[in-house]
Amino acid sequence: MKRAAIAALFFILNLINWKIMGTTKTYSNGEVKVIWKPELCEHAGICVKMLPQVYNPKERPWIKAENASSEELKNQISKCPSGALSYSEEK
Ligand code: SF4
Repeated sequence: MKRAAIAALFFILNLINWKIMGTTKTYSNGEVKVIWKPELCEHAGICVKMLPQVYNPKERPWIKAENASSEELKNQISKCPSGALSYSEEK
């Protein structure tokens, strides 16, 4: 049930973002910039399960990169199954 709720939230999130399909959204913690490509997201919710203090589809912005260390962000991003999440180092 919880999984279905997470999937539904991501579906709604993508509906809201339909106008920006093909674009990227970025969220920074000051050291690492999290890059999210909505059109690639499979809504598996792995990000929400691994770092719920960062990824919360019920809130806006739904990614709060400042709530995790750079290492935590990079480790989680490497587990994203779709490639929707990536990152770049801030200068
Ligand atoms: S882990 Fe990646 S594919 Fe899964 S919900 Fe998060 S952003 Fe989307």
